[in-house]
Amino acid sequence: MSASGVHLFDRRTGVNVLLDEVSVPPELLSRAPRYLSVALTNACELRCSYCYAPKQAAKLDRNRVLAWANELDAAGCLGVGFGGGEPTAYPRFSQLCSDIAQSTSMAVTFTTHGHRLTPALINSLRGSVHFVRLSVDGVETTYERLRGRPFTAVVNAAERIKSLAPFGINAVINADTVDELDDLASFAVDVGATELLLLPEQPTVTTPGISDVDAQRLVKWAATTTTRIRLAISRTGLEAALPTAEAIPDELPLDAHSHLDAIGVLRPDAYASKGVPVAGSIMDALHALRETA
Ligand code: SF4
Repeated sequence: MSASGVHLFDRRTGVNVLLDEVSVPPELLSRAPRYLSVALTNACELRCSYCYAPKQAAKLDRNRVLAWANELDAAGCLGVGFGGGEPTAYPRFSQLCSDIAQSTSMAVTFTTHGHRLTPALINSLRGSVHFVRLSVDGVETTYERLRGRPFTAVVNAAERIKSLAPFGINAVINADTVDELDDLASFAVDVGATELLLLPEQPTVTTPGISDVDAQRLVKWAATTTTRIRLAISRTGLEAALPTAEAIPDELPLDAHSHLDAIGVLRPDAYASKGVPVAGSIMDALHALRETA
Protein backbone atom coordinates (compact mmCIF):
# COMPACT_ATOMS: atom_id res chain seq x y z
CA MET A 1 0.00 0.00 0.00
CA SER A 2 1.31 3.42 -0.90
CA ALA A 3 0.19 7.01 -0.95
CA SER A 4 -1.04 6.28 -4.50
CA GLY A 5 -3.46 3.56 -3.38
CA VAL A 6 -3.58 -0.22 -2.92
CA HIS A 7 -1.39 -2.36 -5.18
CA LEU A 8 -2.62 -5.84 -6.02
CA PHE A 9 0.15 -8.05 -7.38
CA ASP A 10 0.22 -11.69 -8.45
CA ARG A 11 3.79 -12.92 -8.76
CA ARG A 12 2.74 -15.99 -10.81
CA THR A 13 1.17 -13.96 -13.62
CA GLY A 14 2.87 -10.59 -13.08
CA VAL A 15 -0.55 -8.91 -13.01
CA ASN A 16 -0.17 -5.61 -11.19
CA VAL A 17 -3.24 -3.50 -10.39
CA LEU A 18 -3.32 -0.16 -8.59
CA LEU A 19 -6.59 0.77 -6.85
CA ASP A 20 -5.91 4.49 -6.78
CA GLU A 21 -9.36 5.39 -5.48
CA VAL A 22 -8.49 3.79 -2.13
CA SER A 23 -6.97 6.15 0.40
CA VAL A 24 -4.34 4.42 2.56
CA PRO A 25 -3.88 5.56 6.19
CA PRO A 26 -0.27 6.67 6.92
CA GLU A 27 0.35 3.82 9.38
CA LEU A 28 -0.36 1.25 6.63
CA LEU A 29 1.91 2.73 3.95
CA SER A 30 4.56 0.34 2.62
CA ARG A 31 8.03 1.47 3.60
CA ALA A 32 9.91 -0.66 1.08
CA PRO A 33 10.47 0.08 -2.62
CA ARG A 34 8.14 -1.86 -4.90
CA TYR A 35 11.16 -3.57 -6.44
CA LEU A 36 14.77 -4.16 -5.43
CA SER A 37 17.49 -5.18 -7.90
CA VAL A 38 20.39 -7.06 -6.33
CA ALA A 39 23.85 -7.61 -7.80
CA LEU A 40 24.63 -10.91 -6.08
CA THR A 41 28.15 -11.06 -7.50
CA ASN A 42 30.42 -9.05 -9.76
CA ALA A 43 31.72 -12.28 -11.32
CA CYS A 44 31.06 -12.91 -15.01
CA GLU A 45 33.09 -14.87 -17.54
CA LEU A 46 32.00 -12.71 -20.49
CA ARG A 47 33.85 -9.52 -21.42
CA CYS A 48 31.31 -7.18 -22.99
CA SER A 49 33.09 -3.88 -23.68
CA TYR A 50 30.11 -1.80 -22.42
CA CYS A 51 29.63 -3.75 -19.16
CA TYR A 52 29.02 -1.39 -16.27
CA ALA A 53 29.33 -4.02 -13.50
CA PRO A 54 32.26 -3.18 -11.19
CA LYS A 55 35.31 -5.33 -11.88
CA GLN A 56 36.45 -5.83 -8.29
CA ALA A 57 35.69 -9.31 -6.95
CA ALA A 58 32.69 -9.14 -4.62
CA LYS A 59 29.64 -11.15 -3.70
CA LEU A 60 26.90 -10.82 -1.12
CA ASP A 61 26.54 -13.18 1.82
CA ARG A 62 23.69 -15.61 1.19
CA ASN A 63 22.20 -15.49 4.68
CA ARG A 64 22.19 -11.70 4.66
CA VAL A 65 20.42 -11.63 1.29
CA LEU A 66 17.77 -14.01 2.64
CA ALA A 67 17.30 -11.93 5.81
CA TRP A 68 17.02 -8.73 3.76
CA ALA A 69 14.46 -10.37 1.46
CA ASN A 70 12.30 -11.29 4.43
CA GLU A 71 12.63 -7.79 5.83
CA LEU A 72 11.62 -6.22 2.50
CA ASP A 73 8.69 -8.60 2.10
CA ALA A 74 7.36 -7.63 5.54
CA ALA A 75 7.70 -3.95 4.59
CA GLY A 76 5.66 -4.33 1.39
CA CYS A 77 8.22 -4.94 -1.38
CA LEU A 78 6.69 -6.77 -4.37
CA GLY A 79 9.73 -8.25 -6.07
CA VAL A 80 13.45 -8.85 -6.05
CA GLY A 81 15.53 -9.11 -9.23
CA PHE A 82 18.97 -10.72 -9.23
CA GLY A 83 21.72 -9.55 -11.53
CA GLY A 84 25.43 -8.95 -11.35
CA GLY A 85 27.81 -9.71 -12.87
CA GLU A 86 26.16 -12.98 -13.72
CA PRO A 87 23.77 -14.20 -10.99
CA THR A 88 23.94 -17.84 -12.10
CA ALA A 89 27.67 -17.73 -11.19
CA TYR A 90 26.64 -17.09 -7.58
CA PRO A 91 27.18 -20.16 -5.34
CA ARG A 92 23.96 -22.08 -4.61
CA PHE A 93 21.94 -19.59 -6.65
CA SER A 94 18.94 -21.88 -7.06
CA GLN A 95 18.82 -22.56 -3.30
CA LEU A 96 18.69 -18.83 -2.62
CA CYS A 97 15.83 -18.36 -5.13
CA SER A 98 13.97 -21.28 -3.58
CA ASP A 99 14.41 -19.98 -0.04
CA ILE A 100 13.13 -16.53 -0.98
CA ALA A 101 10.21 -17.88 -3.02
CA GLN A 102 9.17 -20.05 -0.08
CA SER A 103 9.65 -17.59 2.77
CA THR A 104 8.26 -14.46 1.09
CA SER A 105 5.38 -13.49 -1.20
CA MET A 106 7.70 -11.51 -3.49
CA ALA A 107 8.34 -12.24 -7.15
CA VAL A 108 11.83 -13.67 -7.74
CA THR A 109 13.40 -12.70 -11.07
CA PHE A 110 16.87 -12.64 -12.55
CA THR A 111 18.79 -11.29 -15.54
CA THR A 112 21.26 -13.63 -17.21
CA HIS A 113 23.51 -14.04 -20.24
CA GLY A 114 22.11 -17.58 -20.36
CA HIS A 115 25.34 -19.51 -20.96
CA ARG A 116 25.36 -21.25 -17.57
CA LEU A 117 21.76 -22.40 -17.75
CA THR A 118 22.29 -26.14 -18.02
CA PRO A 119 19.25 -28.44 -17.91
CA ALA A 120 20.24 -29.33 -14.33
CA LEU A 121 20.30 -25.68 -13.22
CA ILE A 122 16.97 -25.03 -14.96
CA ASN A 123 15.45 -27.99 -13.09
CA SER A 124 16.78 -26.79 -9.76
CA LEU A 125 15.21 -23.35 -10.35
CA ARG A 126 11.80 -24.72 -11.29
CA GLY A 127 9.02 -23.36 -9.08
CA SER A 128 11.28 -20.71 -7.51
CA VAL A 129 11.47 -18.09 -10.26
CA HIS A 130 8.67 -15.93 -11.65
CA PHE A 131 10.32 -14.09 -14.53
CA VAL A 132 13.69 -14.23 -16.31
CA ARG A 133 15.45 -11.61 -18.42
CA LEU A 134 17.83 -12.96 -21.09
CA SER A 135 20.47 -10.53 -22.37
CA VAL A 136 20.80 -10.65 -26.16
CA ASP A 137 22.67 -7.70 -27.65
CA GLY A 138 22.17 -7.98 -31.40
CA VAL A 139 21.59 -11.11 -33.44
CA GLU A 140 23.76 -13.65 -35.23
CA THR A 141 27.30 -12.36 -35.92
CA THR A 142 26.73 -9.07 -34.07
CA TYR A 143 25.83 -11.01 -30.93
CA GLU A 144 28.86 -13.26 -31.40
CA ARG A 145 31.20 -10.32 -31.84
CA LEU A 146 29.85 -8.42 -28.81
CA ARG A 147 29.39 -11.34 -26.44
CA GLY A 148 32.06 -13.74 -27.66
CA ARG A 149 29.66 -16.71 -27.58
CA PRO A 150 27.85 -18.63 -30.37
CA PHE A 151 24.43 -17.21 -31.19
CA THR A 152 23.04 -20.75 -31.28
CA ALA A 153 23.96 -21.07 -27.59
CA VAL A 154 21.76 -18.14 -26.57
CA VAL A 155 18.93 -19.48 -28.76
CA ASN A 156 19.20 -22.77 -26.85
CA ALA A 157 19.23 -20.83 -23.57
CA ALA A 158 15.99 -19.11 -24.57
CA GLU A 159 14.41 -22.51 -25.23
CA ARG A 160 15.41 -23.75 -21.78
CA ILE A 161 14.21 -20.59 -20.04
CA LYS A 162 10.85 -20.90 -21.78
CA SER A 163 10.33 -24.16 -19.90
CA LEU A 164 11.12 -22.44 -16.60
CA ALA A 165 9.14 -19.19 -16.48
CA PRO A 166 7.84 -16.31 -18.59
CA PHE A 167 10.80 -14.38 -19.89
CA GLY A 168 11.87 -11.21 -21.66
CA ILE A 169 14.79 -10.25 -23.88
CA ASN A 170 17.10 -7.43 -22.73
CA ALA A 171 19.15 -5.71 -25.42
CA VAL A 172 21.80 -3.02 -25.01
CA ILE A 173 21.31 -0.52 -27.83
CA ASN A 174 24.38 1.18 -29.24
CA ALA A 175 26.05 1.81 -32.61
CA ASP A 176 26.45 -1.95 -33.10
CA THR A 177 22.85 -2.93 -32.37
CA VAL A 178 20.65 0.03 -33.33
CA ASP A 179 20.37 -1.29 -36.91
CA GLU A 180 19.12 -4.65 -35.62
CA LEU A 181 16.06 -3.50 -33.69
CA ASP A 182 13.69 -5.20 -36.14
CA ASP A 183 15.76 -8.40 -35.96
CA LEU A 184 15.79 -8.28 -32.16
CA ALA A 185 12.02 -7.85 -32.05
CA SER A 186 11.55 -10.78 -34.47
CA PHE A 187 13.96 -12.88 -32.43
CA ALA A 188 12.04 -12.11 -29.22
CA VAL A 189 8.76 -13.14 -30.84
CA ASP A 190 10.25 -16.28 -32.39
CA VAL A 191 11.72 -17.60 -29.12
CA GLY A 192 8.49 -16.96 -27.19
CA ALA A 193 9.56 -14.00 -25.07
CA THR A 194 6.81 -11.80 -23.62
CA GLU A 195 8.77 -8.55 -23.60
CA LEU A 196 11.68 -6.78 -25.27
CA LEU A 197 13.51 -4.39 -22.96
CA LEU A 198 15.78 -1.92 -24.78
CA LEU A 199 18.64 -0.50 -22.75
CA PRO A 200 20.47 2.49 -24.25
CA GLU A 201 24.18 1.85 -23.64
CA GLN A 202 25.37 3.73 -20.57
CA PRO A 203 28.74 5.50 -20.38
CA THR A 204 31.46 3.69 -18.45
CA VAL A 205 35.08 4.60 -17.78
CA THR A 206 36.01 2.95 -21.08
CA THR A 207 32.95 3.55 -23.30
CA PRO A 208 31.02 6.73 -24.14
CA GLY A 209 27.51 5.26 -24.10
CA ILE A 210 24.90 5.60 -26.84
CA SER A 211 25.40 8.61 -29.15
CA ASP A 212 22.71 11.26 -29.53
CA VAL A 213 22.18 10.20 -33.13
CA ASP A 214 21.65 6.55 -32.21
CA ALA A 215 19.41 7.54 -29.30
CA GLN A 216 17.20 9.45 -31.73
CA ARG A 217 17.14 6.45 -34.07
CA LEU A 218 16.05 4.23 -31.19
CA VAL A 219 13.26 6.62 -30.23
CA LYS A 220 12.11 6.88 -33.84
CA TRP A 221 12.09 3.11 -34.22
CA ALA A 222 10.05 2.68 -31.02
CA ALA A 223 7.52 5.22 -32.29
CA THR A 224 7.04 3.53 -35.66
CA THR A 225 7.61 -0.19 -35.13
CA THR A 226 4.75 -2.58 -35.77
CA THR A 227 6.23 -5.41 -33.71
CA ARG A 228 3.68 -7.24 -31.62
CA ILE A 229 6.05 -7.88 -28.72
CA ARG A 230 5.53 -5.75 -25.61
CA LEU A 231 8.24 -3.09 -25.62
CA ALA A 232 9.93 -1.46 -22.66
CA ILE A 233 12.69 1.13 -22.98
CA SER A 234 14.98 2.26 -20.19
CA ARG A 235 14.78 6.01 -20.02
CA THR A 236 18.29 6.31 -18.56
CA GLY A 237 20.32 8.06 -21.23
CA LEU A 238 17.25 9.12 -23.21
CA GLU A 239 15.82 11.67 -20.79
CA ALA A 240 15.75 14.46 -23.36
CA ALA A 241 14.60 12.36 -26.29
CA LEU A 242 11.97 10.01 -24.91
CA PRO A 243 8.50 11.11 -23.83
CA THR A 244 7.44 8.94 -20.90
CA ALA A 245 4.37 8.55 -18.79
CA GLU A 246 4.71 8.24 -15.02
CA ALA A 247 3.89 4.66 -14.07
CA ILE A 248 2.36 5.90 -10.83
CA PRO A 249 1.76 9.65 -10.59
CA ASP A 250 3.66 11.39 -7.77
CA GLU A 251 5.54 8.21 -6.81
CA LEU A 252 9.05 8.99 -5.56
CA PRO A 253 11.85 7.09 -7.38
CA LEU A 254 12.96 5.38 -4.15
CA ASP A 255 9.41 4.14 -3.58
CA ALA A 256 9.54 2.46 -6.96
CA HIS A 257 12.99 0.92 -7.07
CA SER A 258 16.39 0.65 -5.36
CA HIS A 259 19.54 -1.27 -6.15
CA LEU A 260 21.84 -3.26 -3.88
CA ASP A 261 25.34 -3.81 -5.25
CA ALA A 262 27.62 -6.79 -4.67
CA ILE A 263 29.57 -5.08 -1.87
CA GLY A 264 26.34 -4.38 0.03
CA VAL A 265 25.80 -0.70 -0.79
CA LEU A 266 22.19 0.37 -1.37
CA ARG A 267 21.81 2.89 -4.23
CA PRO A 268 18.88 4.60 -5.97
CA ASP A 269 19.77 2.63 -9.12
CA ALA A 270 22.62 0.60 -10.59
CA TYR A 271 24.19 3.68 -12.22
CA ALA A 272 24.13 5.90 -9.12
CA SER A 273 27.56 6.93 -7.85
CA LYS A 274 26.48 7.31 -4.22
CA GLY A 275 24.74 4.98 -1.81
CA VAL A 276 24.46 3.78 1.77
CA PRO A 277 26.22 0.62 3.06
CA VAL A 278 23.79 -1.90 4.52
CA ALA A 279 25.26 -2.64 7.93
CA GLY A 280 22.37 -4.61 9.44
CA SER A 281 18.78 -3.81 8.54
CA ILE A 282 18.14 -3.02 4.86
CA MET A 283 15.14 -0.91 5.86
CA ASP A 284 17.43 1.22 8.05
CA ALA A 285 19.73 1.67 5.04
CA LEU A 286 16.76 2.60 2.88
CA HIS A 287 15.71 5.18 5.44
CA ALA A 288 19.25 6.62 5.41
CA LEU A 289 19.22 6.65 1.59
CA ARG A 290 15.97 8.61 1.62
CA GLU A 291 17.60 11.15 3.93
CA THR A 292 20.41 11.72 1.42
CA ALA A 293 18.09 11.95 -1.62
S1 SF4 B 1 27.27 -10.60 -19.66
FE1 SF4 B 1 26.55 -8.81 -18.47
S2 SF4 B 1 27.77 -8.88 -16.57
FE2 SF4 B 1 28.81 -10.21 -18.05
S3 SF4 B 1 30.37 -8.90 -19.02
FE3 SF4 B 1 28.52 -8.84 -20.33
S4 SF4 B 1 27.35 -7.04 -19.61
FE4 SF4 B 1 28.86 -7.55 -18.01
